[in-house]
Amino acid sequence: MRLLLLEDDVDLGPLVARALRRDSHAVDLVGTLDDALDACRLTSYDVGIIDLGLPDGDGLDLIRRFTADPTHRPHRLLVLTARSAVRARIDGLDAGADDYLTKPFDLDELFARLRAIGRRRDRPDTVHRVDDLELDRATAEVRRGGRPIRLTAREFSMLDVLIDHPGRIVSAEELLERAWDAEADPFTSSPRVLMSRLRRKLGQPPLIETVRGAGYRLRVTP
Ligand code: CA
Repeated sequence: MRLLLLEDDVDLGPLVARALRRDSHAVDLVGTLDDALDACRLTSYDVGIIDLGLPDGDGLDLIRRFTADPTHRPHRLLVLTARSAVRARIDGLDAGADDYLTKPFDLDELFARLRAIGRRRDRPDTVHRVDDLELDRATAEVRRGGRPIRLTAREFSMLDVLIDHPGRIVSAEELLERAWDAEADPFTSSPRVLMSRLRRKLGQPPLIETVRGAGYRLRVTP
């Protein structure tokens, strides 16, 4: 999923961001409410993970803002904070958060909650199918003709974008925007190189075609 992580702690932020990337997510890390708002105006996030105590204010204010005007709201909001009192949790959920996790937390629990959020987001169609290809967003599994295919996080993200628009051309820029995060190195992981690996793994007959000068398209049988 495409995630916004709002966390001002200089140790915890990068650590959680790295762990989330290893768990197949594209993550943008920001440390202030202002930067979070800017990021949300530019990018449509699946989940915003929101710390509450921030240098320029309270994360709850951001959540209330999104509740009042959901134009740029991430699909789901998860509060991640040291405030553990029952009252604080109630305030967070009442302000409009979808879930609440208190620090210290276990990374595996964070991953599990994101999976649960992903299932809620997409139900009942968490599994996307195009011809004999199946992609399950909740479990990050891909199958073709029932055969499981192991993809890296970025390969999965690219296929996830393509399967959202079967038969439509997706430009390399759009792939970069949706499947990559700010940390991705465009030189070592260019869409072209990853795309050829993804194609090889998906096998025959070819599923993804290159439209010269325009982008990529997931083939659908008419
Ligand atoms: Ca903080």
